[in-house]
Amino acid sequence: MNNIEFDRQHIWHPYTSATAPLPCYEVTYAKGAQITLASGEVLVDGMSSWWAAIHGYNHPDINQAAHTQIEQFSHVMFGGLTHSPAVELTKTLLDIVPSGLRRVFLADSGSVSIEVAIKMAIQYWACQGRTEKSKLLTPRGGYHGDTFAAMSVCDPVNGMHSLFQKTLIEHYFAPAPQIPFGQSWHPDEIAPMRDILEQHHHQIAALILEPIVQGAGGMRLYHSEYVKQCRALCDEFDVLLICDEIATGFGRTGKLFACEHAGISPDILCLGKALTGGYMTMAATLCTEQVAQGVCEGEPGVFMHGPTFMGNPLACAVANASIKVLQSYNWQERVTDIQAQLEAGLAPLANLDAVADVRCLGAIGVVEMKQPVNVAQIQKYFIGKGAWIRPFGKLVYVMPPFICTHEQINTLVSAITYGIEQVTAK
Ligand SMILES: *Cc1c(COP(=O)(O)O)cnc(C)c1O
Repeated sequence: MNNIEFDRQHIWHPYTSATAPLPCYEVTYAKGAQITLASGEVLVDGMSSWWAAIHGYNHPDINQAAHTQIEQFSHVMFGGLTHSPAVELTKTLLDIVPSGLRRVFLADSGSVSIEVAIKMAIQYWACQGRTEKSKLLTPRGGYHGDTFAAMSVCDPVNGMHSLFQKTLIEHYFAPAPQIPFGQSWHPDEIAPMRDILEQHHHQIAALILEPIVQGAGGMRLYHSEYVKQCRALCDEFDVLLICDEIATGFGRTGKLFACEHAGISPDILCLGKALTGGYMTMAATLCTEQVAQGVCEGEPGVFMHGPTFMGNPLACAVANASIKVLQSYNWQERVTDIQAQLEAGLAPLANLDAVADVRCLGAIGVVEMKQPVNVAQIQKYFIGKGAWIRPFGKLVYVMPPFICTHEQINTLVSAITYGIEQVTAK
């Protein structure tokens, strides 16, 4: 039995049926912005392995950092022990994140960092004697991960809350932000969020959102003023602000962190995905001194979380190397160029009947179709044109590695254009 056949019979893939899975392609090698398949095709990676591989694959500096660390030690427990990879990573993060964040919890995946953020917020209020502040508030259309607490703040429809109704905790949902990034602001946009806070702030521990880009919930790019107003409302109503920058962090939107578009700092910040340059799993939950102090006042006096692989030294070393690579060149100029190229290349698609919208920000390009696309079918066309792109629902989108050349971005744009034309041809 070959690998593909064995895989099809025994291995779960993300969001895929075990009994009738989508086709799966075997990878044998990846270097730079290219992925090589067992069948021989070499594909330009349009996905950065889900926002993560910002420097592409097999980067010599990051490889070296991993080798060097593994020769020292790969992992030690973080309970009662520490190490320079974690210290260095924490120093670097505190240096580059929006101001005010002072304490870092090194978690092992994005979803876990969200669980940690939510627990921090709830424990913070509980330790102030405000146990009734135990609910969360979030705009619809969000995505924050697949574990239960994270899922409870995902969009209720996309997140299939109905399936898990009896298990999921119910939170407060505001309408999804409607005004696109860069368009003119209207104060009505924030009114529903204010209404919910006015009525329910006594029950609400934190407002959680993905600043500027709602990623897996619909690839929506929304107005920075919305984020700014959410910050102001949180201050007014004594609610913590959690920003989930797991997808947007490390330059993806053209700013190092998407919060910078709004000029705000959250009380709690979640990072992941590109934190290790896509090499391995690692995430971080950062909080202000006020949150840290609040959490540790009174009983139990400690923060109640500690994964086995917390602060994994190998992942920290890789993250340190990835951030160094990012800081070693003018990534902003690269991301701006990619945005310009995606905008120019994808714009003509907006004229097609089957296309509802085309939008770009930073190194993100989105074509929203009117109907869901047949993933298996369109992927064959993409692969034929040398591109790895994985649409979901009505969304055909790319967020390529920043190191992509002009020619590689062209390959992605041509593949999207060709694939969409083929699957929508009458
Ligand atoms: C991917 C993602 C998560 C979850 O991270 P995992 O590492 O997959 O658990 C949470 N929030 C956002 C915005 C994400 O894009």
